[in-house]
Amino acid sequence: SAPGARFTLADLPLREALRGQHAYGAPQLDVPVALNTNENPHPPSRALVDDVAESVRQAATVLHRYPDRDAVALRADLARYLTGRTGVELGVENLWAANGSNEILQQLLQAYGGPGRTAIGFVPSYSMHSIITGGTDTTWVEMLREADFTLDVTAAVAEIGRRAPDVVFLTSPNNPTGQSLSLDDIRAVVSVAPGIVIVDEAYGEFSDRPSAIALLDEFGDRLVVTRTMSKAFAFAGGRLGYLVASPALVESLLLVRLPYHLSVVTQAAARAALRHADDTLATVAAIVAERGRVVAELTALGYSVVDSDANFVLFGHLTDAAIAWQRFLDRGVLIRDLRIPGHLRATIGLAAENDAFLRAAAEVAADGL
Ligand code: PMP
Repeated sequence: SAPGARFTLADLPLREALRGQHAYGAPQLDVPVALNTNENPHPPSRALVDDVAESVRQAATVLHRYPDRDAVALRADLARYLTGRTGVELGVENLWAANGSNEILQQLLQAYGGPGRTAIGFVPSYSMHSIITGGTDTTWVEMLREADFTLDVTAAVAEIGRRAPDVVFLTSPNNPTGQSLSLDDIRAVVSVAPGIVIVDEAYGEFSDRPSAIALLDEFGDRLVVTRTMSKAFAFAGGRLGYLVASPALVESLLLVRLPYHLSVVTQAAARAALRHADDTLATVAAIVAERGRVVAELTALGYSVVDSDANFVLFGHLTDAAIAWQRFLDRGVLIRDLRIPGHLRATIGLAAENDAFLRAAAEVAADGL
C-alpha cells in the first residue's frame, strides 16, 4: 500500500472546524447520459477549439514568464461582454476573474468572512456556499426557503436584520431549485444587509430576469455579482469564473488573491472562448427550449416540477429519492440527489440525452414513483 496509508484523517492535527466534514462530491461516474453537474451539453465548435489551440500555442511561447497578475485583457473582454448583455457600462476595474466562480467565492470569504464573522444562505441552495464559508472559519447560518422552494423575501430581510451577517448569499437562478429573484427582491435584501451581498448568477444567461449588475451603482459598497463561464459558455473544463462589483470592492480582492492565480494558458483560452460568445450562447436558446419540453413531459408523467429559470430542473414528489436516483442510474442516466426529500435534479442535456432521461422517468413513474 502507499507509504503512510495507515494514517487516517482522524490522526491528523486538522483544524477543529474541518473534523468530520465531507468533501464536495458530485459523483463522476462513467455513464452514457450524465445530467448531474449542470454543464452545457453542447461541445465547443470547431472554430472555438481551433482558436483556443492557436491562442494557447502562442501563450506557450511565454511560459517562462509569469502571467499578467491582474488579467487585464481578459477582464476587459468580460466587461465588454457584460456591457453588451446588461446595458450597464462596465470597465476593467469592475471585473475580477479567477479559476471558476468557486475561487471567486473563496476570495470573497477570505476578504469579508473569517473567524468571528457570519455568512447566511437560504437553503436548499448551492452547497459550496456553506463549504467555502466553513473553509474560512466563518460561521454559517441558514434559513429555509418556503415549501415550494421560493424565497420569502420579507422573512429573509427580517432574519438579516436579526443576525446582521457579514456575508449574504443570494443565488439567482438558485441551484438546485432553478428559481430566480427580481431586482426588487435583491434591492430589499441589499438595503438591509450590513455586510456584503453576493448574488451568485452562475446560471444568469439561462434566465430572462435582469441581472443584479443593474444595482451596482446604487450599492457599490456591498453588492457583488458572481458569474461563470462554466455553464452557458460551455467552458466548465477551462475553469473561469468572474465577478462584477465596484472598483473598490474589486481592489479589496487583490489583498487575498494569490499572485499569478490565473495561468497564461487559462487567460489565453478564456479570451479565445469569449471571442466565440455569440456562437456558444446560441446554444442557450436550444437548452431553454429543451427545458420546456422536459418540464412538460415530466409534468404529464405525474411529476411535480419546480419552475426553472436555469439549465436544470428539480422534480418530485418521489416516495424515496435515493431509490429513484438508482433507478435512473440503472437505466444509464446519472442525475443528482441533493438530499432534498422526495426530489431529484436533472440537468437539461442534448435532445437525445433528454429523451433517455424522459424514458427512464416514464419507467420510474410506471413503477409508482
Ligand atoms: N455557483 C453555483 C450556483 C453553481 O451551481 C456552481 C457550479 N455548480 C458554481 C457557482 C461554481 O461553478 P464554477 O466554479 O465552475 O464557476
